Amino acid sequence: MQKRNKQGLSRSLERDFCIRLLILCCTLFVQEKLFAQHSPFIMVLGTAQDGGYPHIGCNRTCCTAAWKQTTQQRYVVSLALVDPIEKQWWLVEATPDIKAQLHLFQEQTKGKYPFLPKGILLTHAHMGHYTGLMQLGREALSSKGVEVYVLPKMAKFLENNGPWSQLVQLNNITLVSIDTNQLIKLSDQWQFRAMTVPHRDEFSETAGFSMIKKDKRYLFIPDTDKWDKMTKPIQDLVKQHDLSFLDATFYSADELSYRNIQEVPHPFVTETMQMIPAAIASKVCFIHFNHTNPLLWDKTVKDQVRKQGFLLAEQAKAY
Ligand SMILES: [Zn+2]
Ligand SMILES: [Zn+2]
Repeated sequence: MQKRNKQGLSRSLERDFCIRLLILCCTLFVQEKLFAQHSPFIMVLGTAQDGGYPHIGCNRTCCTAAWKQTTQQRYVVSLALVDPIEKQWWLVEATPDIKAQLHLFQEQTKGKYPFLPKGILLTHAHMGHYTGLMQLGREALSSKGVEVYVLPKMAKFLENNGPWSQLVQLNNITLVSIDTNQLIKLSDQWQFRAMTVPHRDEFSETAGFSMIKKDKRYLFIPDTDKWDKMTKPIQDLVKQHDLSFLDATFYSADELSYRNIQEVPHPFVTETMQMIPAAIASKVCFIHFNHTNPLLWDKTVKDQVRKQGFLLAEQAKAY
């Protein structure tokens, strides 16, 4: 009897193992097909807030595992817009992790694309979103004329302040100043439009991007103040796009015991989940996680969010 039970148990473990293996193979197959096919796609190159994960000086439970295991670490938010037909790609945000992120992109796409993106789209002048430009300068890569798409105040900021101004003067980068009413064509496959979003605009305005390929529209608003300050309701924007990468800096107010909320008035994930109707939850993909956000390190909380239909951006994954 006991033997039969044991046999039954090992058979069910075997079955469980086979199912897991099958799911893994299917995921890898779909991912591989996505890279191989001729349809443009987005690859997430980082998911953390400006400070990255783990966070400087943090020895609390949120960062403990990430200090010990490199697999737990996450780069700062960045996307690659990939055009497999023209064999070109564009980088969205130049983060402090740009060196590793360009390498990650090469690895994931098996060297099928140029090492440097054809252009870079920047949202704003906060440290996680543009300071990676320094790697293109004289002291490092010394690139030639990489196009950098920015709104007007951001263009002025880069032109008029060192060390960024040197990148412009030496033509390491070529600034392309864009307006919010312009539809910018990057290639036959990719177009985008910038919008301004409310944020702490000390040095530049802050952009969000609507990125359009033939059969799909993506929204990227990684860094913003509360949604009610937006000129257009976030629900409408989510409805108008197939997939929206949205600010998930903080999960809830619980994380902010050590800081004044007025300094960092981001929409909480809990608030966003309440605002977005269940029917379109699967169009929202959370990104820009602060190290205190349990969506980086707490499986129970991750599962709860996924159970409600929302997606969590994953580094090195194609969308
Ligand atoms: Zn940020
Ligand atoms: Zn910011």
